[in-house]
Amino acid sequence: MSDYRMLIGGALVAGDTVMDVINPATDKLLAVCPRGSAEQLDAAVAAAKQAQSGWAARSLGERQKALMRLADSLESRSEDFARLLTLEQGKPLTEATAEVAYAGAFIRHFATQGARVEVLEDGPDRRVEIHRKPLGVVGAIIPWNFPLLLIAFKLPPALVTGNTVVVKPSPTTPLTALMLGELCAEVFPPGVVNIVTDANDLGGRLSAHPDVAKISFTGSTATGRKVMQAAAETIKRITLELGGNDAAIVLPDVDPASVAPALFSGAFMNAGQVCLAIKRLYVHQDIYDELCDRLAALAIDAVVDDGFMQGAQIGPLQNRMQFEKVKGFLADAHAAGKVIAGGKAIDRPGYFIEPTIVRDVTDGDRIVDIEQFGPILPIIKFSDPEDALARANASPLGLGGSVWSKDVRRATDLAGRMDVGMAWVNKHLDFGPGIPFGGAKQSGIGMELGDAGLAEFTQLSVLNIAL
Ligand code: NAD
Repeated sequence: MSDYRMLIGGALVAGDTVMDVINPATDKLLAVCPRGSAEQLDAAVAAAKQAQSGWAARSLGERQKALMRLADSLESRSEDFARLLTLEQGKPLTEATAEVAYAGAFIRHFATQGARVEVLEDGPDRRVEIHRKPLGVVGAIIPWNFPLLLIAFKLPPALVTGNTVVVKPSPTTPLTALMLGELCAEVFPPGVVNIVTDANDLGGRLSAHPDVAKISFTGSTATGRKVMQAAAETIKRITLELGGNDAAIVLPDVDPASVAPALFSGAFMNAGQVCLAIKRLYVHQDIYDELCDRLAALAIDAVVDDGFMQGAQIGPLQNRMQFEKVKGFLADAHAAGKVIAGGKAIDRPGYFIEPTIVRDVTDGDRIVDIEQFGPILPIIKFSDPEDALARANASPLGLGGSVWSKDVRRATDLAGRMDVGMAWVNKHLDFGPGIPFGGAKQSGIGMELGDAGLAEFTQLSVLNIAL
């Protein structure tokens, strides 16, 4: 029996079976959670399909108002959400609190947006209008690193444009999504929002479902490929936000002491489990030793602990599978370079890994070429910034990237030539609901957020009238 309920057709319901959710800081049972069946997923899609035309027929103002109410009720329970997020995801309570606040702000942003008719031509012979219609039922598939915020990337823009939604959280972090479902049940008409949990076995069914018009997916590149294949049968719209192996390039004119803290947090936030984290740090040879030492000092000083402990900066990895995977990357780091901070799993219950800095590694080493998605930062030396840029761009992934220099013009020129969806100058990991978010190359297809992201939840339709 579980205290949590899925949301299907306006009803909060038990799963046909249950599954365990583990607290990553203790490796102990946190909660028993509903596990949806294929039939329950189909019922959720059917409810969303049935509700869609009525929802789209409501005025934009009504849909916006409902989203505002959702933001209000989320914010009125923000402490409960933050605590549950730390319990299920592992991140420090400060980061969980920030994630809940961001989720509220993202919902509020889209509660002021909407698709409007654009007049392209008006006479003398014809009037051409561009309409943006809802797609229908949207499937939102969520990973475990930002279980609440990534719902707030998808649900609000889908709903404000008149779609209905079936959310499928990650099996290891379903609880905050289910808590959000309780709020959605009070705010939206039955079927407009549905939340179905699984044990990693319903994502394929949702992606292939003939009554789902679009999949908005965030997760690994490998799973993204499967979504694309499953969506092909019905020519579904897809947005894929996939893996990243972001490079940061540090030019010789920066002061290592002043940039080290920002580089450190860009790499180690959420224990490195951030798609946009700095995962390859290219540092000019003139400042290489000093910057390596400063980052190592920050890593050695960082407080790694249960997210509820006062002062905890880095929590555990989110799940055992990722913990084992990152231990493999630690072995690669020791084999390829010189580990100057951290380097091992911490001997305590839970999935804790010491923040690890590895120097004297280069492109071609697995620790550099493959996304680690954990608290390990490889630092690569370069002499020519053009060469560093070429190496940064050689990755098949292209999510984000940054260039750091006192010479903003030079850094902007280099950053503008990164093959990525999001490039920064003298910062990393800065984003907001009004700024398009997405990746180049195998980091994804399409954008989320901003006007570009909103448009992806609509079908552009031309209305051409003879005058
Ligand atoms: P994952 O691909 O294993 O899982 C993501 C989701 O897909 C889960 O809900 C999972 O149950 C579901 N899924 C599993 N099999 C499926 C299938 N066959 N069809 C459809 N869905 C299926 O990813 P993860 O391990 O949860 O997350 C980590 C990855 O996500 C990293 O690679 C990270 O870079 C990436 N990520 C990308 C972004 C971005 O915006 N680009 C943001 C966060 C995370």
